[in-house]
Amino acid sequence: MERVDILVIGAGVVGLAVANSLADDFDDVVLVEKEETFGRHTSSRNSEVIHSGIYYPENSLKAELCVEGAALIYKFAEEHDVPYRKCGKLVVATCEDEVPALLDLKQNGEQNGVLGLELISSEECNQLEPRIKSIKALKVPSTGIIDTHKLMQAIENEAEKRGAFLVYDMEVISIDTLDEGYQVNFANGESFEARIIINCAGLHSDKIAEMAGINIRRNKLQLHWCKGEYFKVSKIKDIKHLIYPLPDPKGIFLGIHLTINLLGEIRFGPNAYYVNELNYSMDESYKQDFLDAICKYIELDPDILIPDDCGIRPKLQPAGGEFRDFYIQEESVHGFPDFINCIGIESPGLTASLAIADKIKDIVEKL
Ligand SMILES: Cc1cc2nc3c(=O)[nH]c(=O)nc-3n(C[C@H](O)[C@H](O)[C@H](O)COP(=O)(O)OP(=O)(O)OC[C@H]3O[C@@H](n4cnc5c(N)ncnc54)[C@H](O)[C@@H]3O)c2cc1C
Repeated sequence: MERVDILVIGAGVVGLAVANSLADDFDDVVLVEKEETFGRHTSSRNSEVIHSGIYYPENSLKAELCVEGAALIYKFAEEHDVPYRKCGKLVVATCEDEVPALLDLKQNGEQNGVLGLELISSEECNQLEPRIKSIKALKVPSTGIIDTHKLMQAIENEAEKRGAFLVYDMEVISIDTLDEGYQVNFANGESFEARIIINCAGLHSDKIAEMAGINIRRNKLQLHWCKGEYFKVSKIKDIKHLIYPLPDPKGIFLGIHLTINLLGEIRFGPNAYYVNELNYSMDESYKQDFLDAICKYIELDPDILIPDDCGIRPKLQPAGGEFRDFYIQEESVHGFPDFINCIGIESPGLTASLAIADKIKDIVEKL
């Protein structure tokens, strides 16, 4: 049987970043992924936004790792020629009732250490983005966009250069506890013994924890899948900033926003609704909800709005539930030493990925 020191499960952006950060200091880092290549799930089905960190509660992991991660990701992109643009974003209040929430957002962002936040008037907003309707806006200069596929490709290259070993088409189906370490069994009949396991399995990270024997119900680690769809328009090409409404007050999502990609193409979304199956088909019946949300901040001919794509969020927060933070923990406390879980890595997980990897490296170095 193959013996490995550190086994990382899942080659989304988080697992790739973790394998890369550990490969320098540890000889034997193996990453296994059930698909035939990296980033087949949430990491390539998102808004590709480098978030600033304005939304999350002060002192939460989401706030801390988003602010740290954004700086790390800009640096990494610069050093490894990953296409990105710090285009900035505007959060727009479209009626007087929304202004207090905009002020709260600015204050929250400042408490989280986000620099350069500025409240601007409707006229100033109009100068920056003539198409956008607002009565006041929060300008967030540190927000940006990145080519996530090229980011993951660059992290994979770096990880392999540093000696990490990546194995695709390797689906973990069960995990046995040994006297020291774990035996991980794969769908193809192979098994590995691992001293340390790092669970970065995204939408299935709760199931991987359960395979090891962790009681995910008792520990409130069950994931709730929350779908987010996008619609696109090809006829508008003159928007330079990302445009966001005020976030959903229940904290489920950031509101149906306008993002641009590196080619200047425009998408709206994602919306948010809980689902029970992993199905990436689009439900076009939500188009009217999109139009209702979008028309508050931009005039749009309904006929030019066409379905694009979707992703699914791995949320710890159930429908109607309270805010839940990222869960990143070494599980000695639950009787599973050297087993590290990353569960509930929803947005801003892309932005935070390199900071999550640094945090996990700190945990592993202390084991
Ligand atoms: C609609 C949407 C929009 C978003 N927008 C943004 C954004 O703009 N900015 C931002 O910062 N974040 C955003 N996010 C969040 C971000 O995309 C995620 O937090 C991040 O991609 C999570 O990465 P991951 O590596 O944890 O998960 P994933 O990318 O899902 O990777 C997990 C991997 O584990 C593998 N795996 C699962 N089970 C097994 C198994 N049994 N054996 C082996 N491998 C397994 C999967 O195949 C997968 O490749 C968004 C998310 C969604 C859904």
